[in-house]
Amino acid sequence: MGCHPEVPVVVAANRDEFFARPTAGPILLESPRALWAGVDLRAGGTWLGANEYGLIAAVLNRRSQSPPDPSRRSRGTLVADVLQCRTTAEAVARIEGFAPTTFNLFTLLVADPEAAVLLANEPDHWRSRELGRGLHVVTNRESESLECPRHERTVQLLSPVVPLLNGRDFDRAVTKIWQALGDHGHGSAASKDPLSVPCVHTADYGTRSSSVLILERSARRIRFLHAEDAPCRRPLQELPPLLLRLDR
Ligand SMILES: [Zn+2]
Repeated sequence: MGCHPEVPVVVAANRDEFFARPTAGPILLESPRALWAGVDLRAGGTWLGANEYGLIAAVLNRRSQSPPDPSRRSRGTLVADVLQCRTTAEAVARIEGFAPTTFNLFTLLVADPEAAVLLANEPDHWRSRELGRGLHVVTNRESESLECPRHERTVQLLSPVVPLLNGRDFDRAVTKIWQALGDHGHGSAASKDPLSVPCVHTADYGTRSSSVLILERSARRIRFLHAEDAPCRRPLQELPPLLLRLDR
């Protein structure tokens, strides 16, 4: 967040999912709001997207002690709901209008050019936190906890990106982000557990795609770079940018 005034938000994400779960996209939708989003064909929701007002949203299913309750509303619908909003504040108010128990445990990132918030549901309340300037890493174990080896590894790999963004060296920043997303923790303490490194490979579950969204203030667009596979196997490709509305 906020590393350079021209690039107020950069979001980089690996999507980890069961290989059997059907997926489409990301696709560019034109109405009722122009937006980019991937589509989960089982529940109809999405895990990451951006809209024409410069709002970016992503959801992580948080790990919990008990298995998810299938009767609750799909967490993928959260991002679709948020992408109908114009600002982070509007999006947070919209989600907090639901009872926290409507969904299984999740962490939701909502960011616009002025503000970014992590919103999470607990059994009896909402927990939200504004993200200040700098690097923030969130995993499915817990938001911004250094006790998670995957979090620790990712912070280590992405920290050099911040000075590159500050210095407007965006191409090198994207290269470093892509390398971090495709990292397997070689030589690190985390490398022994396939779930503790950024790029996950197991028999039936793993990193299925990678995305990098870059909000450019003067160009009034969100660049969308995407690899429709594990990022260690495929480079990021630039998709057509999402052009932002002037009447935000
Ligand atoms: Zn990999």
